[in-house]
Amino acid sequence: MNSKYVAIAVTTVCNLKCPYCQSTGESIPNVQGMWNYNWLKEVITAFLKVGYRNFRITGGEPTTVPYLGDLLDFLLQNPDVRVRINTNGYNIENYIDHLNSQTEVIFSVDGFKNGFSPKRLTEELLKKIQYLQSKNISIRLNCVVTKQNADEIPELIQFCSEQGMNLKLLDLSPRVEYQGKVQDNFLDNNYFELNKLCIPFPKVSSDFRTNMIKKGTGIPMSGYNLGNGHWLQIKDSSKEPYYASVCNDCQYKDNCIEGVFSLSLSVGEILRVANCVNQDYWIQLSGLKQRQIEEELKKMEKLFF
Ligand code: SF4
Repeated sequence: MNSKYVAIAVTTVCNLKCPYCQSTGESIPNVQGMWNYNWLKEVITAFLKVGYRNFRITGGEPTTVPYLGDLLDFLLQNPDVRVRINTNGYNIENYIDHLNSQTEVIFSVDGFKNGFSPKRLTEELLKKIQYLQSKNISIRLNCVVTKQNADEIPELIQFCSEQGMNLKLLDLSPRVEYQGKVQDNFLDNNYFELNKLCIPFPKVSSDFRTNMIKKGTGIPMSGYNLGNGHWLQIKDSSKEPYYASVCNDCQYKDNCIEGVFSLSLSVGEILRVANCVNQDYWIQLSGLKQRQIEEELKKMEKLFF
């Protein structure tokens, strides 16, 4: 199957404020709002024409946009399209009629009682997860590991193994600002080295890389077998990521710890490589015709992949 992949940050709005997020979520800094739905469909159509079949819908919190159900229906009318949604679980149960076997719901959960992050695996959230599982929707949990929740991680791994859920652990990403504020010691105070985790499950890979547009992009990840077809993945940003040759001259490279792994659409109608802060390589899509978007997309692929 075609693995070309793009992340769509549909909104900067979120019902929660996680301390390690930037205030615009996965969109570019200094922007607020959400994509206009009709325009977003035009842009997605260009991606489909260029061969993209994997879409990740993210935010902010994507369930806060009024058109999420319509967007899912629009994407999933193509039987070879796969859609992932990143959510903290807010209202996700309302979208059950728009989810199917082509979808995976990725819940952000940073532990059971962790007070540092508002994303906890509460009874209420667990009920939602189990409801989706009962409808045969694929589930994954994403957990950002910090000094504040590291002690809960063994329990979370065991829980996922018992409940039949995939789990991805990520370390903290350095950012210029956290929730709109520059906090100089934030990273030092909270960063936890993932290689200190003790994983009581068999390791099946130590250098799996994504294959989103070209083989071998992103950060090499470790994989563990949690049993019954479920897995644990560890994305440790201290490992050397893939960079494109244009990155070698980029003044931001030292802080660009995730390197190049996929394309991304940001609020503000910007096409870029995910997390790329070098505006020389951002494409402003406003006002472009569909054919021009396709051309820009191909140029971007050539430059970075
Ligand atoms: S900011 Fe953009 S151009 Fe610079 S190193 Fe990162 S991905 Fe490459």
